[in-house]
Amino acid sequence: MARRLHPGSRLVLASHNPGKLVEIRALVAPHGIDVVSAGELGLPEPEEPAPDFAGNARIKALASATASGLPALADDSGFCVAALGGAPGVLSARWAGPAKDFGAAMVRVNDAMGDAADRRAWFVSALCLAWPDGHTEVFEGRVDGVCVWPPRGTAGFGYDPMFLAVGETGTYGEIPSARKQATSHRARAFALLMAACFG
Ligand code: IMP
Repeated sequence: MARRLHPGSRLVLASHNPGKLVEIRALVAPHGIDVVSAGELGLPEPEEPAPDFAGNARIKALASATASGLPALADDSGFCVAALGGAPGVLSARWAGPAKDFGAAMVRVNDAMGDAADRRAWFVSALCLAWPDGHTEVFEGRVDGVCVWPPRGTAGFGYDPMFLAVGETGTYGEIPSARKQATSHRARAFALLMAACFG
């Protein structure tokens, strides 16, 4: 039985990524939970040494929960390309370098793919809800699609402009954010989290 978070609770969003914060705030908003970001509390951004999304989500959520004394929600996510054996995966943020240049990261992905016939790609999100006593709950979501080149659209963040989800006619850079939020990897992980832990 998962531990639950009740309306009126205060929750730390353990992310320093502005794109993720916008999406997670929108997902949490209908649940009557008072959110504050790790950045607003002046909490540091931990390293992400784990080899998988769930492990890194746990590290980030636990760091914020123990430092703040409040429950904390972290997302660890990434863009995975079939022709690259799942890369950049957990290294998705690092492929953008210290300047966080995702235009350059998309070029790097496209160059690495070359003319591979297999254009399949997917996003994964692991969401971890952690409590100050060390208890954690982790949920994962995934959305499948293909890589397009050149990138299209200016909405979203990260690798969105080069990802066309199955069933969509526009990339995540082109479709309205509400549409991405209905079916994205993050929304799917959040639906599992919400069913198990909210209310
Ligand atoms: P991390 O979880 O902090 O390691 O960063 C994950 C990275 O994966 C982000 O910086 C983005 O580049 C990428 N990513 C994760 N989710 C999305 C998404 O919804 N759209 C585009 N890129 C994403």
